[in-house]
Amino acid sequence: MSATTGDVRTRLPAWRLLVSHSLPHRGRLLAGSGLNLVGTVAGLAQPLVAKQVIDSIGAGGMSWSPVLALVGLVLLGALCAAWGTYLLERVAASVVRRARGNLITRIMRLRVDAMDRPGDLISRVTSDTTLLSGAASQALVEPLSGALMLVGGITLMALLDLPLLAVTAGILVLILGVVGLAMPRISHAQQGVQRSVGEITTALERALGAFRTVKASGMEDVETSRLGDAVDQAWRHTVGAAKWAALARVSSGLSIQVAFLTVLGAGAARVASGDLSVSSLVAFLLYLFNLGQPIATLVQGATELQVGLAAVRRMREVEDLPVEAAERPAATVEKPVYRQATAAFQKVSFGYGEEPVLREVSFTVAGGEVTAIVGASGTGKTTLFSLLERFYEPSSGIVTLDGRDVRQWPLAELRRQIGYVEQDAPVLAGTLRENLCYAARAVSEQELADALTRTRLTEFVANLPDGLETRIGHRGTTLSGGQRQRIAIARALLRRPRILLMDEATSQLDAANELALRETMTAVAKTTTVVMIAHRLSTVMGADRIVVLEGGRVRAGGTHEELLATDGFYRELVGSQLLSARRT
Ligand code: ADP
Ligand code: MG
Repeated sequence: MSATTGDVRTRLPAWRLLVSHSLPHRGRLLAGSGLNLVGTVAGLAQPLVAKQVIDSIGAGGMSWSPVLALVGLVLLGALCAAWGTYLLERVAASVVRRARGNLITRIMRLRVDAMDRPGDLISRVTSDTTLLSGAASQALVEPLSGALMLVGGITLMALLDLPLLAVTAGILVLILGVVGLAMPRISHAQQGVQRSVGEITTALERALGAFRTVKASGMEDVETSRLGDAVDQAWRHTVGAAKWAALARVSSGLSIQVAFLTVLGAGAARVASGDLSVSSLVAFLLYLFNLGQPIATLVQGATELQVGLAAVRRMREVEDLPVEAAERPAATVEKPVYRQATAAFQKVSFGYGEEPVLREVSFTVAGGEVTAIVGASGTGKTTLFSLLERFYEPSSGIVTLDGRDVRQWPLAELRRQIGYVEQDAPVLAGTLRENLCYAARAVSEQELADALTRTRLTEFVANLPDGLETRIGHRGTTLSGGQRQRIAIARALLRRPRILLMDEATSQLDAANELALRETMTAVAKTTTVVMIAHRLSTVMGADRIVVLEGGRVRAGGTHEELLATDGFYRELVGSQLLSARRT
């Protein structure tokens, strides 16, 4: 089986991937950060204007213009900050939307066998994408304004008084050291948190997906503790990240306070000696106090970037999962000549892993006939259908529909020809009508009623509280296995397929329903080719042709009478439980 892996994006480094998420929103991103920048500059100018106000009061005359300028600056700063914040939040939401959309598109293209841990995939779509929001918006641009504010603040402080700045510098270096120490640890812990969230979803999905089995086996406590372990793990990682984040934040806050007190003392001495004016000291202290914010922004931004990078790495893992083979080029299909499709296997070999499952299987399904496939469980019957649907591709040999290699069909076109009733036909959460009309085009009420009659569902539907609008599946009416099978058959029929694949689709029906369904199949076979994997002699006997599978090989083929006469293994099957003549 050939694995088709992701495109070039797979090989992009994580930070490039992160940036690529924000690029489509660069207009708003720039506008948002521009506004924040204006707000920042307005903030930077405030202490200077405040100094003028103080100076003018000190000079004895109160001048109104610096006061008005100060009010204007405060208002401008607030307005820009609000608008800028809105724009950046909006970009963040858009990044999440796009990332979710991309992931969902990707997931829908995955090959069927990539779906062994749906819970983990779900957590990547719902939880990891939200972590991208901060990193791909604020965290990309706000540190810029933070850095500007830091550099601007320090420059202005240098202009105000160099000796006081020297006192401050040592403390600032200390902060940067702590932050540098904390960042990689936060990133590591965050990746752990996300991994644990994935584990929780997986464990939940496992236990809830088999809820009745869990209960019947009395395994509630075991499952609870298994989930508890995953929850504890997430807690440990979160606490680990919180410890370092708190250390980084508190140490920066504390350092600012220490610097503030030191500068206050040293500054007072310089004011007393006449080297510094009171207004300059006040302005310096205001700048120092304001340094807290850009430093916090930088710390926050760096943390969010780490979180976002962790999320991007996990989202990228989805791209490493196998997707369905791309369409072969120049695949156009002419309108089929016959209503009933033909199908053929020509020396088809296939294995899911090293072990071969099908070995050089050859047989043809004639248009309009009913073909039955029989064989012990695990011999590869369901696998034959998977190859015809092109869920997998054979390792050698070809599978054809209407004489054309299934790989030469456009995938959607191929599957449109085929009605597939799965072995354990699932229902989709929703109404019965939605289930029946799933993927069918323009179904009339008459056709719907007809399909219900054919699958002996009319009475069942009439007895439902809301008829066809009754909710089934998730949080809806519970159905029996036989009812699910008949719904699945009706759904397949309503798509008007040219070939109908039924995988043990009557195994759970009672004798009366099975007999009725057999009549339906005879009628269906007039317009549709039918291939059925069957376990009942009664079903098999009515087939035009029977294919006997043993150990992944076609052992014999023919009508019931022919096989009885020529094939010992078939005779054995008929005599055994495998092709049971008993009606259960
Ligand atoms: P049947 O329908 O005749 O009971 P299947 O076609 O389902 O048999 O399976 C044939 C063999 O392939 C079995 O041994 C089964 O364990 C294996 N198999 C089926 N599906 C998968 C899968 N998705 N991955 C790996 N092995 C599989
Ligand atoms: Mg099977």
